Amino acid sequence: MQHDPVLPPGATLITPTAPIRIAAHGARAKCLQRLIRLGLPVPRTVALDAATVAMLAEGGTIDTRAVLAAFGPDTLVSIRPSSGQHEWGGPASVLNAGMNDARHAVLSGRIGADKALRLHARFIRSYAMVVAGVDCGGADDIPAMLAAFEAAHGRPFPQDPAVQLADVLRGMAAAWNAPTARLLRAARGAPDDAALGLVVQQMVLGVGDPALGEDGAGVIQFVDGETGRPRIVGRYLSQSQGRDALQGQGALYLTSDPRGPALQDVYPQVFMDLQHYGTLCRTRLREEMQIEFTLQDGALYVLDAVGVQRSTRAALRIAVTLATDGIIPEAEAVSRVQPRALLNVLHRRIRPGAGGAEIGRGIAASPGAATGALVLTAADAHAAGARGEACILVRSETVPEDVLGMHAAAGILTVRGGVSSHAAVIARGLGLPCVVGAAGLSLDAGQGLMVASDGRVLHSGQTVTLDGHGGRVIAGAVPLVEPMLDDAFATLLSWADEVRDIGVRANCDTPSEAQTAARFGAEGIGLCRTEHMFFEPDRLAVMREMIFAEDPQDRARALARLLPVQRADFTELFAIMAGRPVCIRLLDPPLHEFLPSDADGIAAMAAALHIAPDAARRRAAALAEANPMLGMRGVRLGIAIPEIYDMQARAIFEAAAAQGDVVPEVMIPLVSARREVDLVAARIAAVARSVRDEMGVPLEYRLGVMVETPRAALRADEIAEAASFLSFGTNDLTQMTYGLSRDDAGRFLSSYVAQGVFADDPFLRLDMDGVGELLRIGAERGRRARPDVTLSICGEHGGDPDSIDFSRAAGFDYVSCSPFRVPVARLAAAHLAI
Ligand code: PEP
Ligand code: MG
Repeated sequence: MQHDPVLPPGATLITPTAPIRIAAHGARAKCLQRLIRLGLPVPRTVALDAATVAMLAEGGTIDTRAVLAAFGPDTLVSIRPSSGQHEWGGPASVLNAGMNDARHAVLSGRIGADKALRLHARFIRSYAMVVAGVDCGGADDIPAMLAAFEAAHGRPFPQDPAVQLADVLRGMAAAWNAPTARLLRAARGAPDDAALGLVVQQMVLGVGDPALGEDGAGVIQFVDGETGRPRIVGRYLSQSQGRDALQGQGALYLTSDPRGPALQDVYPQVFMDLQHYGTLCRTRLREEMQIEFTLQDGALYVLDAVGVQRSTRAALRIAVTLATDGIIPEAEAVSRVQPRALLNVLHRRIRPGAGGAEIGRGIAASPGAATGALVLTAADAHAAGARGEACILVRSETVPEDVLGMHAAAGILTVRGGVSSHAAVIARGLGLPCVVGAAGLSLDAGQGLMVASDGRVLHSGQTVTLDGHGGRVIAGAVPLVEPMLDDAFATLLSWADEVRDIGVRANCDTPSEAQTAARFGAEGIGLCRTEHMFFEPDRLAVMREMIFAEDPQDRARALARLLPVQRADFTELFAIMAGRPVCIRLLDPPLHEFLPSDADGIAAMAAALHIAPDAARRRAAALAEANPMLGMRGVRLGIAIPEIYDMQARAIFEAAAAQGDVVPEVMIPLVSARREVDLVAARIAAVARSVRDEMGVPLEYRLGVMVETPRAALRADEIAEAASFLSFGTNDLTQMTYGLSRDDAGRFLSSYVAQGVFADDPFLRLDMDGVGELLRIGAERGRRARPDVTLSICGEHGGDPDSIDFSRAAGFDYVSCSPFRVPVARLAAAHLAI
């Protein structure tokens, strides 16, 4: 019968009622207490709180003799980390502390010399590593190991168990503060001030005299960590400790297995007990746990249990199954899956640990992974696509003319650009992996080669792999993991929809994007960038004719040919979205973007359009602007050449009227003044009237404005009087608020972020302070002038969980993001409402 020990301050014996808290003692200590409460056979354990561990790291001391007294004389102990969350990791556990020459001798007599030697050597090895960073080698030669330790560390290996324990505790406490440990856990989501508790546990050796019963150790879990489906996974190894079974030769399978003996058959009672413990953990701790167990003289002990390590796919299924089994509420299942993690199941990714030579690095602009032949022009990408070959399109930066080639590519890589550059926006819409701003690469399209930052030369046609999650370019092919969307995914997101209170729409330009958006549960289209509809060869030719038209009649003829094409586009979008709202933005980019950029292209275009090359060159030059992003684009184009918007409005209205039940939303881009809205609104109303008259059907529509200039945000009150919705384009708004080109920022943003000038890339993470201030002002003024105005965000930030948090707090009605981001946004919105 063990007495209640007198422990030093900061140390607590874990009993069912002891005051153990995660915040103070860490998750492992708390979990052990829960296991004890469930009646599981957990060896005696003392928890040291984080304040004590921090004090030890600072050079303080604790009465380790008193701690050891809690375990009775001659007991060996293990020491394990207990941080706030198991995933944050921590220093490696130390087993068999308290081993010294005297105990070695006693144990040799009891369990045999070989086994005592192994236990002793194991302790020396881990002590030397955690206390002094000394590697004592692999051979179990105690005198040699002790000599190696003394030579490296300058003092003899301690024989006193209390000294050993004090050293190990201090070593583990200090290891927690090492810079690499900090970086590692920060990458796993730990906060800067994450603290470490420690647990000291009576050793159950797992090594002993077989005559007294079975000894050994193993781990068991009851679900598959990759799929989340029920499956008993683990191994057991006789005469072993800790997790040796997972590496050791001769380990037993857990369940009956044709490949070798199984715990279930050899020790059926142990197996049944473990199953019972697994069920208890699942139902009472409400989690799928991996149990670390040890047998000593035939008796079963549970040393530890941690949540099963799981892929995102498994996390989804485990959460959904626990909820459908009535163990946790549905809302809790929703909150257990991290929104950003969904990107892992929506896209292909590189198999963890797959390796491969990295030849370039840039900004991860669109998730996913793809392997394909390197191509350096959009035409080559198109040709590869036509041959059915996967290719990675590499460009200095992409231009609208590249869109066809981008559609054909399996991945897109650019040397320049940031997260809202053309390449990034298009790739996200298409769900293609994309890396931008890979400044270490240089291209020579003429020679058909790419030079990597390490000088390695890759020729067009060579295989490369793009990692859109990690922003890496890898030479050759590496194994990929396929995306996996199963019923658990759909179920969890349907639960998310039940609780969230902000809408989620998608940015879609093509029918296939709209189909993806609908499949991923978008409530509508929040932004259809119509300019993206003109980059197919036939359409581009007519668009160019329109641009080159000499007089209004010629222009009208070209526009009349574009009208049915656009009408068909909108008809298809309305049909796919089946009554859900569709917001169509009138043409935005400057006209010269529709023209070829080099002399050869202009000559070819002139020939195709039957115009003189000189005239084509002159017109292209006349349209060129020094700063096109701030030039004649958006509503400015609509006011300068109103026939374009007239044609688009007609196409929208004719498609809507033919469909019957659609209320299209027409959006005016790049507005900065109320008068711009009035001018465009009047012409659109006139088009609507004539379509109504011509088709003899009622036609409703909503007219809205994109708020993407700072002035529009500041004047949102008067603008809202003329607009039934305001959609904030945070790409341009960020660009204009910072005076920072979204296409050029990639060049220096990483150095800005590294030097702390900006906390983050503002095109990636919404700048809550500056751009956010404008959003708040715009939303507040817009609502004041028109209480029922619909407010939304449709820039690339729309799918970012932090931006959704911001939008919700600022009273926005919905966010709109690329189709593949829709599930992330739905889940993130639900988390905010729970
Ligand atoms: C924006 O500016 O935020 C926006 C959505 O429009 P685009 O990216 O097409 O300029
Ligand atoms: Mg914009």
